Amino acid sequence: MKYDYDLFVIGAGSGGVRASRIAASHGARVAVCEDLYMGGTCVNVGCVPKKLYVYASEYANHFQDATGFGWQCDHIQFDWPQLIENKQAEISRLNGIYARLLADSAVTTIEGRGRLLGPHSVEVNGETITAKNILLAVGGWPFVPDFPGREYVVSSNEIFDLKAFPQRLLVVGGGYIAVEFAGIFNGMGAQVTQAYRGPLFLRGFDDEIRQFAADEIVKQGVDLRFNCNVDQIIKQPDESLLVYFDDGQQLEVDAALYATGRKPKLDDLGLENVDVALMDNGRIKVNECFQTSEPSIYAIGDAINSLALTPVALEEGMALSHHLFNDQPCTLDYSNIATTVFSQPNIGSIGMTEKQARDKYHNVVKYRSEFRPLRHSLTGRDERSLMKLLVDGDSDKVIGMHMVGDDAGEIMQGFAVAMKAGATKADFDATVGIHPTAAEEFVTLREPVKD
Ligand code: FAD
Repeated sequence: MKYDYDLFVIGAGSGGVRASRIAASHGARVAVCEDLYMGGTCVNVGCVPKKLYVYASEYANHFQDATGFGWQCDHIQFDWPQLIENKQAEISRLNGIYARLLADSAVTTIEGRGRLLGPHSVEVNGETITAKNILLAVGGWPFVPDFPGREYVVSSNEIFDLKAFPQRLLVVGGGYIAVEFAGIFNGMGAQVTQAYRGPLFLRGFDDEIRQFAADEIVKQGVDLRFNCNVDQIIKQPDESLLVYFDDGQQLEVDAALYATGRKPKLDDLGLENVDVALMDNGRIKVNECFQTSEPSIYAIGDAINSLALTPVALEEGMALSHHLFNDQPCTLDYSNIATTVFSQPNIGSIGMTEKQARDKYHNVVKYRSEFRPLRHSLTGRDERSLMKLLVDGDSDKVIGMHMVGDDAGEIMQGFAVAMKAGATKADFDATVGIHPTAAEEFVTLREPVKD
């Protein structure tokens, strides 16, 4: 049978765009449909605007700290509408770049929502399109639980463009998105309360790092409340929100951000017309080649059960298209993927947490350094950094690296290469440091922590 396309991609986000371009580069006839925004979550309501807002929020400390270095920074003001306008201009530029990238790669882009009609057919804008292979790169969408007052809260999608800057903000959630937004608005001058239902936020990160980060974030001024649940939110006549917690406490805020998880965007996707199985957590089930239980349909990125990160979606998109259209094996190694929480200070992490390491290896050697960054010797700011290295004592391999401190994202990326290459502690020791930097601590850790 002759199909309209070799590959039809639903969703022009991180994974979909990359898969489309790579497939087309191998000579495949490719089309992609997108119903919301070119570039997907990362470009429009994720990594990019988030990081721009992180930068914006960091200036507050910089202006304060500058006096320690002889600068006078009087009459400093923050202009929220200006930030939104500038951010939007940058996103529009990126939307254009994504559209051009697809056009230049000879990928047909269709504006509209894709709905599966069968294993080889999709409906977009009332038209039926056929394809040998279909890729679901539909990403995710914020999940906000049902509770009285749910209609008054916003998700990460809306928080970027709030009409009025929230002088008092409640952030609900304990994942990295919640932590980052708490830091962003705290830095911009809001009074921020972060409420999380568990005993400590950032589940999945190293426990010592989580606790250290929590202490530093509190020092920055965020009111962190753990084991704390919202019962109800009501809107008051002056538009402010009154939050009732289950321990009887109340809080008045101007806005409430719910960063309480994300779910794959599967609504009205036509899954009832095909045999695509889902996992218990609602994500699309795939094999190691990203193939669903419907053999002609594939899925990647946030829609499947992998790490919900842009570089992971990109790698999956590439691996799939190389596999389908260039006969390459479909292997993707998910080990030692570095990740950063862009909080203040940053949290960077590669490899195993201490608990994972001790569960797997019987001879874990731990190195640890806690210090006041050089910058703060003149600012007077009570900020500390923590660096931690976990080594398998038998093989000498570095199996975990963690950091709380400025620029952790930039620092950890380079070390991720070393860990991917299987670096040993002896390799770290043989590396001459760059002085004076914070990163040099990682190559000058000599004395293990005694258990
Ligand atoms: P997406 O990028 O979400 O793309 C899916 C696309 O499909 C969307 O454009 C959507 O509109 C479209 N679509 C869905 N259904 C249909 C349909 N039926 N028809 C047509 N189009 C459809 N990751 C990082 O690596 N670093 C970060 O710092 C980071 N920060 C983040 C901050 C926030 C606030 C959020 C929400 C996410 C962040 N992420 C970050 C995660 C990152 O954005 C995602 O992992 C990544 O975008 C996933 O790519 P994807 O291709 O799977 O989906």
